[in-house]
Amino acid sequence: MGAGPDVAALRATVRGVVLEPGDAGWDEARGTYNLVLDQRPALVVVPADAEDVAAVIRYAGRYALRVVPQRTGHNAEPLGDLAGAILLRTDAMRDVRIDAARRRALVGAGAKWADVVPPASELGLAALHGSTPDVSVVGYTLGGGLGWYARALGLACNSVTGIQVATADGVLRWVDPDVEPKLFWALRGGGGNFGVVTAIEFRLYPVTDVYAGVLFFPWERSAEVLRAWEAWTRTVPDEMTSVGRIMQFPPFPEIPEPLRGKAFVLVEGVFLGDEKTGARLMEPLRRLGPVLDTFATVPPAGIAELHMDPPQPMPYQGDSMVLADVTPADIDRFVDAIGPGSGSPLVSVEIRHLGGELDRVRRGSGALSRMPGGYILFGVGIAPDPASVQAVRQWLATMKESLRGQAGGLYLNFTEKTVDPAQLFPADVYQRLRAVRASVDPRGLIRANHEIPAARG
Ligand SMILES: Cc1cc2nc3c(=O)[nH]c(=O)nc-3n(C[C@H](O)[C@H](O)[C@H](O)COP(=O)(O)OP(=O)(O)OC[C@H]3O[C@@H](n4cnc5c(N)ncnc54)[C@H](O)[C@@H]3O)c2cc1C
Repeated sequence: MGAGPDVAALRATVRGVVLEPGDAGWDEARGTYNLVLDQRPALVVVPADAEDVAAVIRYAGRYALRVVPQRTGHNAEPLGDLAGAILLRTDAMRDVRIDAARRRALVGAGAKWADVVPPASELGLAALHGSTPDVSVVGYTLGGGLGWYARALGLACNSVTGIQVATADGVLRWVDPDVEPKLFWALRGGGGNFGVVTAIEFRLYPVTDVYAGVLFFPWERSAEVLRAWEAWTRTVPDEMTSVGRIMQFPPFPEIPEPLRGKAFVLVEGVFLGDEKTGARLMEPLRRLGPVLDTFATVPPAGIAELHMDPPQPMPYQGDSMVLADVTPADIDRFVDAIGPGSGSPLVSVEIRHLGGELDRVRRGSGALSRMPGGYILFGVGIAPDPASVQAVRQWLATMKESLRGQAGGLYLNFTEKTVDPAQLFPADVYQRLRAVRASVDPRGLIRANHEIPAARG
């Protein structure tokens, strides 16, 4: 750091770990879930607690450094160059407290869903987690949080009841509907733009069992199965959240033998209800004759791995788009573009069913009060070298192009490229978010992956 920031003073101030380039553990500390990325911040700090976070922010302010909060790096690509930034890894702040009587969880910024879902499930409670247990509760929730119960219970950000946040002035605050309501509103869906969240409290729901699983069909049947799934989504109640998906499993040894190196078209679903009703709902799709059917009654913890997201870091490229709707003709174009015979190397292309509670605006909800659109598209391909990064990007563009006619906006959590942040929100919401940013971080000390600039003047 030369004659600049006094790193020794920072080390003396915080209880956590401070790393400079070349220190033991540096490469591990700056690594992310996406192995394509090579983050090179000025410093990495792994705070021990909320007071450490506030101290790091005050230190950064003194030396004109920026602070980049991060947990897993599941959405790190839009950050770009980290020169002049302190990467603040929340990994050590993994406290999880569950109050079963109040149906609330209070978790630290470093807690992943894997730390919350199993103990809550033991108590007959479910949280609004997403498709992978390996993302942080905080990062996922600040961006919205689209999970397996979404059509019945909405976005995770709208089940948040309070947040502890260290703002750019280095002050720790507790915000909730009554205390600093504007900041509380912005944090729920506006991403990591308003401070470093140190803890988050949210509602849990009484759920002892769900009826959930995956139907696997030969991928040659992609158009037929996805068309049937699309028609079926028009008939199901809000308690059913499902995904239509094409997967080409790589030939990796960690993938179970029946799937390894093979391709399928799948329907994944979670039904918040009893087995008899769930089985009746699944009947039209079962009648198509899946080669593998894993639907069963399981406790909430039993769906954590249902989506088969890789737990270990991977080199990959992903892209996404909200879809206003999907028609049978769209399915045909989509399958022609990236399905069997197309030559697509994408390991997973999925269309998630939205609607239901996601489409309703409730009083007191956050900045992402609803998810527009009927469906959302997400695709991902493995990209171990620069040539495959380019090739996968091209295939992702082809995927999106096939559904361009239904383009309905972008969802922050699924947006893994740098975009104009105005595209992530309705215009009035974006202006309100900019005003909140101006009130808590006018000079832009905290840097989010999708940065919302402070309003001027
Ligand atoms: C395999 C995979 C599956 C996914 N499934 C889903 C899904 O089902 N539903 C869904 O909604 N999303 C999903 N996502 C997206 C995921 O929710 C986002 O990538 C989310 O940002 C991850 O949070 P993180 O903290 O783990 O990631 P990070 O990359 O560490 O953080 C992402 C951003 O969150 C903010 N942030 C994180 N921690 C803090 C903090 N303490 N204070 C302030 N800001 C903070 C920062 O702006 C940071 O840049 C998935 C992503 C992947 C790669």
